[in-house]
Amino acid sequence: MLPYATVQEAESALGRSLTAAENLWFNYSAAKSDYVLYCHNILFLFVIFSAVPLYYVFLEVFFLESVKSYKIQPKVKLSVSDMFRCYKSVMRMFFLVVGPLQLVSYPSIKIIGIRTSLPLPSLWEIIAQLGVYFIVEDYLNYWIHRFLHCKWGYEKIHKVHHEYTAPIGFAAPYAHWAEILFLGIPSFMGPAIVPGHIITFWLWIGLRQIEAIETHSGFDFPWTPTRYIPFYGGPDYHDYHHYVGGQSQSNFASVFTYCDYLYGTDKGYRYQKKVLQQLREGLKSNGEQKGDLHDISAQDVKVD
Ligand SMILES: [Zn+2]
Ligand SMILES: [Zn+2]
Repeated sequence: MLPYATVQEAESALGRSLTAAENLWFNYSAAKSDYVLYCHNILFLFVIFSAVPLYYVFLEVFFLESVKSYKIQPKVKLSVSDMFRCYKSVMRMFFLVVGPLQLVSYPSIKIIGIRTSLPLPSLWEIIAQLGVYFIVEDYLNYWIHRFLHCKWGYEKIHKVHHEYTAPIGFAAPYAHWAEILFLGIPSFMGPAIVPGHIITFWLWIGLRQIEAIETHSGFDFPWTPTRYIPFYGGPDYHDYHHYVGGQSQSNFASVFTYCDYLYGTDKGYRYQKKVLQQLREGLKSNGEQKGDLHDISAQDVKVD
């Protein structure tokens, strides 16, 4: 809740006029408690988990011919009811774990200093903080995920997330409740180190989940803007981790590729890429049809 009753009060406290964005924020948040603003995350996550994967389902159902060459594991076909079953499981976990976790974690964001006040952060401040959040989350997530692939972690917890060897968008948050709790820590650490405005926090939670849905989508589209992010792993990168399955010792990172490169856990993936490239070049020089080239996919080469 803002400590000003009117725009004039806010302007005299800041010593300047409010920007258009700040006026909007004032009108929206002035009478809402910080707790209510924080709990917006529950609604945002619900919408993201429900709507973003639908984009991929829509393309697969109505435009399969146009997009099938971008499918990472084209030989795996899930029906719409299979996908809906996954969504139902995710929603059950959402109402039992994710939502309640948001409701009770409010004191922690007050302790670390997430603010709802004016002035609003600049665009550059938001981008810089989001960059830090992604880097911190990626690093910590790498080690937690790697730990979850030890015998105990996999059998007791992480096996659930790996039920989908050819992941789909809805399966991004599909996991054991303990994994959801564990992986909340890396998401929280970035804002704890560099606390920002609640709008930045909303963006962080939302963008991280949209990114996870993209990397689990099963499609590697050439038009996705995330391709221009340096060291970004993307769908093909994480799909390989699911494809190899429980024995996977490759591609643990959630967002970027550098951790796997530094710690030598991307060797199987890179070898697979090399073999695929050689197979495609061999077919090309033998004058095979374009269709045959598309028929060769990651599913034909399994390493690690
Ligand atoms: Zn895993
Ligand atoms: Zn995954």
